Amino acid sequence: MRHDSTGRTFARESIAAQALGWVDEETRAIVAPIHPSTTFLRDPDNQYRSGRVYGRSDNPTFDQAEALVSALEGGTSSMLFASGMAAATAVFLSLAPGDHVVVPEVMYWSLRSWICGPGARFGLRVTLVDMANPEKVAAAIEPGKTRLVWVETPSNPLWGVTDIGEVSRLARAAGALVCVDSTSATPVLTRPLEWGADLVMHSATKYLNGHSDVLAGTLTAAEAGDFWERVRATRSQVGSIAGPFEAWLLVRGMRTLFLRVRAASQSALAIAEHLERHPRVLSVLYPGLSSFPTHAVAARQMDGGFGGMLSVRIRGGEAAAVAVASRVSLWKRATSLGGVESLIEHRASVEGPDSPVPKDLLRLSVGIEAAADLIADLDQALAR
Ligand SMILES: *Cc1c(COP(=O)(O)O)cnc(C)c1O
Repeated sequence: MRHDSTGRTFARESIAAQALGWVDEETRAIVAPIHPSTTFLRDPDNQYRSGRVYGRSDNPTFDQAEALVSALEGGTSSMLFASGMAAATAVFLSLAPGDHVVVPEVMYWSLRSWICGPGARFGLRVTLVDMANPEKVAAAIEPGKTRLVWVETPSNPLWGVTDIGEVSRLARAAGALVCVDSTSATPVLTRPLEWGADLVMHSATKYLNGHSDVLAGTLTAAEAGDFWERVRATRSQVGSIAGPFEAWLLVRGMRTLFLRVRAASQSALAIAEHLERHPRVLSVLYPGLSSFPTHAVAARQMDGGFGGMLSVRIRGGEAAAVAVASRVSLWKRATSLGGVESLIEHRASVEGPDSPVPKDLLRLSVGIEAAADLIADLDQALAR
């Protein structure tokens, strides 16, 4: 389902709402079934013409979810994983020991810890860089040796925006792949492959599913070449594959992706503008604010909104920030992001003593409640 009967291309909103327009010609069902089977029948002549053998490699329930992610990202092939971390680490584990990788200084903390710990022990040579600064990225890339540049934009939890087009040009010239963790932007707001990236990764646990009830990850490739097949082999060998029920729930969640992300983006902007004027707030980190350092890149690269994620630094340091979080009632004190319910988190408490995140920072994941209710709850929590 990409075009109507006259050849007119459907908008991505329409493709998402109908999950590619799947119907079962036999039963006339318009919602796909779940296939729990872990094994698939061999043909009498000893062949596997279906292409499916065993559930650690593939499952028919993935087909719709993977095709839908590919359609939304504009890629040729997608793979579903057990989590965002499973998807991301599959990319790094498909490189070879000795390969050089360039990754952001500020990025999703668990992945940074994995790259610098087990990833380095596996043999990756890692350079951390300020991804918002193309000159520093250019200096970090070693032509012929750098195999991968990892981008996260907007990046956790300071929400700096990376110019994907610029970084992709630099990487391509040096023979390196670019993979973008686009979890916080979602395909609603940014399509990294259109800007020249090779791969897009999502923690589908977050916005793609959107209801805080599925752990999953996705990778999408602009072109399915040798490296992509290595990633597929890694998924199958390691068994970092999603469950069929999770794949099915993910399709259901993605049907409302556009509505959820647009509502969250609108409320997040209203909350950011409100808090920027609040006397107890030191600063607001949100790509949609004209005061934000990488706002110009965000305005060019993000399409129709700046996302539902922002961070706030509270006057009075760590104790004051923790106290504000302790007094909210509508916002839920919890980690994670991208669900329909709004979450607030003292980020340094999660990341531990090595974290570069300011101790007075609260991370906000804006859901789809009424913005006025969310603002009123923050105001009473800030009023001490
Ligand atoms: C949550 C998250 C991940 C990891 O995903 P999981 O599904 O928790 O494994 C990676 N990157 C970003 C930006 C995230 O928010």
